[in-house]
Amino acid sequence: MSGSVRVIARVRPLLKGEIEKDVIVEAAGDSADGKTIVRIPNPKKESESFSFQFNSVYPSGASQQTIFDNEVAPTVKHLFKGFDVTLFAYGVTGTGKTHTMRGGKSLQERGVIPRLLSNIYRKARKLEKDGETQVEVTMSYYEIYNDRVYDLFEPPEQRTPAGLPIRDNNGKTVVVGLTERPCTTLKDFELSYEQANAHRSTSATKLNAHSSRSHAILRVKVAQTTGDETRISTASAIDLAGSEDNRRTDNNKDRLVESASINKSLFVLAQCVEAISKKQARIPYRESKMTRILSLGQNNGYTVMILNLAPVRSYHLDTLSSLNFANRTK
Ligand code: ADP
Ligand code: MG
Repeated sequence: MSGSVRVIARVRPLLKGEIEKDVIVEAAGDSADGKTIVRIPNPKKESESFSFQFNSVYPSGASQQTIFDNEVAPTVKHLFKGFDVTLFAYGVTGTGKTHTMRGGKSLQERGVIPRLLSNIYRKARKLEKDGETQVEVTMSYYEIYNDRVYDLFEPPEQRTPAGLPIRDNNGKTVVVGLTERPCTTLKDFELSYEQANAHRSTSATKLNAHSSRSHAILRVKVAQTTGDETRISTASAIDLAGSEDNRRTDNNKDRLVESASINKSLFVLAQCVEAISKKQARIPYRESKMTRILSLGQNNGYTVMILNLAPVRSYHLDTLSSLNFANRTK
């Protein structure tokens, strides 16, 4: 049985070197609940524009706190009821996926992931204080690059180039040999998360697996034990590979191999999210490695797809294709 899907768009602010007069993306709609429409010119005929509707659209001024409070905090209660939660950041390189998920160092600039974990531990401590329930949190964190799985707890120079094998085990897909690290406190989590993130960026130079060409998948398992009963659910947060069209920007051979595997996994992802959102019986999650490992939509999942957008003209065609992608998942 499948759960629910929210598809939201977030427009990032202008960066250094970008100017107001190049802004082409507009967040519109003024219902009581805020904005729901993204408007962008037709690249073939600038006097016309296209509109795309989402569950919510966050203009460039929206804070990290607002995104978290509106879109992610509400999923925590589902997680503790035993349902899986999956958050995706989709978009072109440079549009704010990593900023949204991981964020900056200051408290204010923290992204969705550290805030989510902070909420999970707060809720866990409250449950433990109020009753007989014990909560255990474990994390795994890995990259999928060219359809190969690499453990982010392993330094890049220790990885086997072929990646970790995946296997079906009692109807579940598991990554064989993946580190599952228990994190007793928020501090434990933060240390492990930052350690693994450091491996993500060094892999960019060492293995030529540039971070924008891989999907980074954080999986947090929450096990609640009351008496002799244990309830397990997972929260997954995925910083997806850049969705840019490499046929247009680059035709280097390695890039084309990367693109083919990125395109396939994003295509299957869109099909799965669409199937969940339309409550279809069959979710084609087994058709790509990423959706298969995530068992996407298999445990009454709550899925939030965050579409990150740059506001300026230099991203015009890629922004349009991102909007079309997200539109297909509804
Ligand atoms: P991506 O992961 O999609 O390639 P990044 O998250 O690295 O993009 O963002 C690109 C740049 O834009 C970074 O310098 C980041 O700090 C900045 N940025 C993105 N979104 C925001 C935002 N909402 N507020 C401030 N800076 C942002
Ligand atoms: Mg990034």
